[in-house]
Amino acid sequence: MTASADATTHAKSPPTAPPPPPPPPSTRTPEPADRLSTRATLRRCILWVVIASVAGTTSFILGLTANQASPTAMLLGILLYGCFIGLVSSSGGFRRRLQQPFVARSFKIGYGIRLTACIVPGAAMAVDMFPGMLAVMAGETLEREVGFGKFASTLVSTLVQGTLINILILLAVTFVWLLQKMFMEWKPPVRDVRACAGCGYHLETLEADTSAICPECGRTNEGLNDRRAWIDRASWPKFLLVVIASGIGGILVQAGTFLVFG
Ligand SMILES: [Zn+2]
Repeated sequence: MTASADATTHAKSPPTAPPPPPPPPSTRTPEPADRLSTRATLRRCILWVVIASVAGTTSFILGLTANQASPTAMLLGILLYGCFIGLVSSSGGFRRRLQQPFVARSFKIGYGIRLTACIVPGAAMAVDMFPGMLAVMAGETLEREVGFGKFASTLVSTLVQGTLINILILLAVTFVWLLQKMFMEWKPPVRDVRACAGCGYHLETLEADTSAICPECGRTNEGLNDRRAWIDRASWPKFLLVVIASGIGGILVQAGTFLVFG
């Protein structure tokens, strides 16, 4: 009885291959990232030097007034550190790591907190205090024990401080990454370079240099070449003007806050 029943059910549903899963509409695995161009790398170095200058304003004033540190060595340290981060963030190895699940977001949050601390008056001072004290101790030890001059010991102090602060940021990045790894499920990002900026409709006619009007929402979409990040799209004068003006603004805010509250 059971055998015949089995036979009938079997006959009703002949063995067929399971239907292939529908292809996701515009989900593409991005190609492995490459090293950035020299121009893009140079811009990131400039940007990070400016960020490091704003972030280091308080330490710079403290170094000048309290420790009689060498200002040239402090500036050189800031320059070296900014260029170092600019070079690392433009390298192929780092950019390929950013393509791993959750990594890019973790870095955005970690360094975002650091940049926010630069904008919020007094916050940078609080973040930099402990690493700053250790850095000054390292410099003074070298001066006393190894006989380093003012310039060399200040340079070491500045680099030690930069390293300690970046270690703190990397700890935050790791923590954010772990949280995502534990509690979130990773889905590949939907990347459609031809998506309308207004409604996401796929614009087949959008080309590198020609703009296209979206048939769905009527929005004029710039050509694909204009879809790069601002840092790579802006002209050199515009880039330098905005970055340097923001940098000077940031330094003035930091210095003003320090002089008023510090
Ligand atoms: Zn649209």
